[in-house]
Amino acid sequence: MTDMSHLDKKYFIDREVYNCPFCNRNNVKYRIIHSYHFDWTSEKKCYVYFVSCSSCDNVSMHLSFERLLVYNSFGNIMEYKFDEEIEDIDSNIFYSVPTSFFVLDDRIPRLLRELITEAEGCLKMNFLTGSSACMRKAIYELLVKEEISGENYEDRIKFLKKKYPNSDAELFDILSHIQQMTSDKVHEQSWDQWDSHYLKLIIETLKTIFYDLYVLPQIKKEKTNYITQLREKVLTKKKESSSSDSKSDTD
Ligand SMILES: [Zn+2]
Repeated sequence: MTDMSHLDKKYFIDREVYNCPFCNRNNVKYRIIHSYHFDWTSEKKCYVYFVSCSSCDNVSMHLSFERLLVYNSFGNIMEYKFDEEIEDIDSNIFYSVPTSFFVLDDRIPRLLRELITEAEGCLKMNFLTGSSACMRKAIYELLVKEEISGENYEDRIKFLKKKYPNSDAELFDILSHIQQMTSDKVHEQSWDQWDSHYLKLIIETLKTIFYDLYVLPQIKKEKTNYITQLREKVLTKKKESSSSDSKSDTD
């Protein structure tokens, strides 16, 4: 079977269904109930979309610099829909309330999830300095959380890599070579921003590392627990039947 779990990581799956941040249901139908626009600058318009969940009726708000809507009419009823030409609705929306951080697995520590979400939001608005700052803080907080010490940045990442030998070594190598993290500028707050492609690489690398460190072990644990339960059931059954066998022997 094809793995479709990446769809759970989106806000809007397509023009019909989304993952609701309120009732946490995946693949649930939604309706666009209102749309407005206002002037972000004198040259640039911003569009606001209000979306209602057909399961729980709660309404979320989404901002975009693009006009994403078309109107469908069914007899007398007019209906807003996202344009079917749009391949990835999420990538056109730069800010949502509730935020999209629910799409990151909640087994990842909240602070790290918030920083990733903020970095992604900044990146969508092309606020590269803000996004870069969030990512640097995310790496810093990861090292603190994992109680990693070391002489310099590269040593610390190496230490982290050793601590998690099951994780893909290449991911840590990308982290350890991040431009400027290795320089003394770390302490000076005088960073240059990273460009958007480089930021995207760092964000995706960190997301994968977070998944490896905080989600995968939990999934494994749950599976092992499940297997243990199954085995216990089998053993109990065996015991029961053998004791009833020995009983029938003595009869
Ligand atoms: Zn809902």
